[in-house]
Amino acid sequence: MTSTQTALPELVSIDPAHGTVVGSVALTPIEGIAAMVEAARIAQQSWGALTHAQRAEILRPAAARLKSEATRLGALASREMGKPIQEAIGEANYCAEGLGGELDEIVTALADTPREDTRVSSILRYAPLGVCAAITPWNFPLLMPHQSVIPALVAGNTVLLKPSEETTLVACEYAKILNEFLPDGVLSVVIGDGKQGRALVLADVNLIVFTGSRETGKRILGDAGPGLKRVILELGGKDPLVVLDDADLELASAFAVRNSFRNAGQVCVSTERIYVDARIHRAFVESMLSKTRALVQGDPAVEGVQVGPMVSARQKAKVVAQIDAAIASGATALHGGGSDEPNSRGNFVAPTILTGVNHTMDIMRDETFGPVACVQSFTTIDEAVDLANDSPFGLGAAVFGRDTTRASAVAARIDAGMVGVNQGCGGADGCPWVGCKESGYGFHSGPEGHRQFAQVRVLSRLK
Ligand code: NAD
Repeated sequence: MTSTQTALPELVSIDPAHGTVVGSVALTPIEGIAAMVEAARIAQQSWGALTHAQRAEILRPAAARLKSEATRLGALASREMGKPIQEAIGEANYCAEGLGGELDEIVTALADTPREDTRVSSILRYAPLGVCAAITPWNFPLLMPHQSVIPALVAGNTVLLKPSEETTLVACEYAKILNEFLPDGVLSVVIGDGKQGRALVLADVNLIVFTGSRETGKRILGDAGPGLKRVILELGGKDPLVVLDDADLELASAFAVRNSFRNAGQVCVSTERIYVDARIHRAFVESMLSKTRALVQGDPAVEGVQVGPMVSARQKAKVVAQIDAAIASGATALHGGGSDEPNSRGNFVAPTILTGVNHTMDIMRDETFGPVACVQSFTTIDEAVDLANDSPFGLGAAVFGRDTTRASAVAARIDAGMVGVNQGCGGADGCPWVGCKESGYGFHSGPEGHRQFAQVRVLSRLK
């Protein structure tokens, strides 16, 4: 740099387990975002003129490159956000290994679809929308960009990816790999926080694919409203788990521990509320306790560590405040308990099991997004269903019971986008990832999800 050049302000990425600097990258100037969108619009003309299959073929070789870089990408993701190293590498491998099948699924979903009656022949055609803003969170630093960017690109849109400010470096590396194969200007990265995100939403984009908190989703919906911009909002959750009296306690408690504490609870479909039949409450909690005591928390770079830190001091403070408030209102911490725990150094929050909770407490109403499992008992199935549904969120849910017909009937009464019986909420291959109530507004994945990244057009002629 010469003495007359001034350095652009930088986004600095901090390792939440050690407080050290992982790296830095120049922030995108807010005033440059409109020009980036304009460049993406020019690039969209030739990209959008290709067929879905041609675009998929351009992206297909990225699978092998992502696979060859999975260890490096996973290690960087782990350092940036504190995810245990094996899980972070697993996330990178999942993106790489699933890419080929996903490309095929998108191409099939977006194929021309004929409709006809006695008089008219029609074709439903899935055309590009134009320029897409993909705004993503930090908790799955590779998967979230991947799930937003790939269907948008194959549908013929050009994309500006605005990754979370917590995990920007790994998102840039991901985009760099896709850009080894994509034509210039088809995928760019906007670097920054909510200010850059908002400027992107307000710019001349046609589709906003957002994954993040309910609060930001509401702001984006407000900003997108005047221009009637298309939005896909995948938002937060407060997932319930209902444990019926005939549940396999080993299975149910293992699921509860895994799904409450995985990624230190920083998963949109984490189990945050557990309702257990009063007759098995004590046995269930004891089973959860013994499994929780066996969890290894610590440096996420060390193999075998299962629970890392919170992504940031701000996230830790939010989680600890919820735990402290619940305890002050009468809840009991059977394990962990937030700020007083020896391993609450740095950004760590101990895996915490709370009993004595109720729905007047914030911890049963607001998303926690930390390693906290709240257990409440119920006496009738109607009460369990009412408690599970007493939430503004409706992302995932689970019901455990040996009588699967009865458990499925309970699951069908739960107001959530995805409900699992004796398993987590994720569906079979080809199912959408979908929330209801304040957890979602639009959705992705599966044929129904892929079509939301395109403009459906009806072309008709008389027979
Ligand atoms: P967040 O809402 O704070 O930020 C998400 C992204 O939005 C970031 O890139 C941020 O910079 C950007 N942003 C912030 N303000 C903006 C604005 N006004 N306009 C445009 N962009 C803006 O969320 P987070 O803390 O990064 O992620 C955690 C949240 O994400 C949790 O609520 C979690 O449940 C949710 N999540 C949901 C899903 C799902 O599939 N439903 C998946 C993962 C995470």
